[in-house]
Amino acid sequence: MSGTSQDPRAALRERQGPGARYDSPHAPARELARARLGTAYIARCLDQLTDAQLDGPSLLPGWTRRHLVAHVGYNARALSRLVEWAGTGIETPMYASPAQRDAEIQRGATLPARALRSLFAHSATHLDVEWRDLPGPAWDARVRTAQGRMVPARETAWMRTREVWMHAVDLDSGARVGDFPPDLLGELLADVLRAWERRGERADLTLAPRGGEPVVVGSGGPTVTGTPSALVRWLTGRGTYGVTSDSDGLPVVPRWF
Ligand code: ZN
Repeated sequence: MSGTSQDPRAALRERQGPGARYDSPHAPARELARARLGTAYIARCLDQLTDAQLDGPSLLPGWTRRHLVAHVGYNARALSRLVEWAGTGIETPMYASPAQRDAEIQRGATLPARALRSLFAHSATHLDVEWRDLPGPAWDARVRTAQGRMVPARETAWMRTREVWMHAVDLDSGARVGDFPPDLLGELLADVLRAWERRGERADLTLAPRGGEPVVVGSGGPTVTGTPSALVRWLTGRGTYGVTSDSDGLPVVPRWF
């Protein structure tokens, strides 16, 4: 018996036959797993909503749930374009312009409920297939985000992760930031701080997550306390519930995006 036949992955491949396809070994496995878990999470949230409830407001100002579902679907398509770009070398931006992106969401929000649901499902599946078929070296090919940053294609996994998890909450059908995996909360917090730094936006405060290590931002300043999920909610612009400061009121912080 050869050594490899005892490897469960190899055994699975053998059972599935030569037609089955897998992520490249160079793909960011952990990040992709989290993005896929988030896609399943938001899909469940969407399933819990009736067609009539899609007309109701999301937690994002000015957007109904229809706008949000359309946005999440078009985001998957836009990220698929980046993965295709990485694979082919032919530049295909996420969106032609911010105006095109917004117009697409407005139009998408008017789709019949069934079409809106299939936009969400098909676009997510398409992105997953693009990820699965991206060859190893292409994961490091550079592509441009909607904010104009050049990033390796592997970053599309994180870009999708934060979209699906946060917007699951924004759908307002029961998902809560408090239900996120703890390591995801840490990544989201770090993402917010990186975004401030990239834009050169200054903030001075100390984040004191309950049960975790304090994080000093800028020169420190007031200490802001809350559970990790409450701090993430606050830092991502989703409300101040459960967050307290040792100074007069909460400090004003820059936006996330
Ligand atoms: Zn979004």
